Amino acid sequence: MAVVCPECDSPIDLDTDVDEGETVQCEECGVELEVVSVDPIELAPIEEAGYDDEELAHPLTEDDE
Ligand SMILES: [Zn+2]
Repeated sequence: MAVVCPECDSPIDLDTDVDEGETVQCEECGVELEVVSVDPIELAPIEEAGYDDEELAHPLTEDDE
């Protein structure tokens, strides 16, 4: 699944089973993006300010217990 970074217009490869609410990081500009919609796929940049130490430390490695 390919989408375009809203910040730098670079293509980003997403897993086909990406879920709404997941976060991905653009390899080009490094911005963190939240998947706000999956059909159609839509990404929104995450504002770092205001986030504390929540579960955002590992946006690309989400382990299912
Ligand atoms: Zn980017």
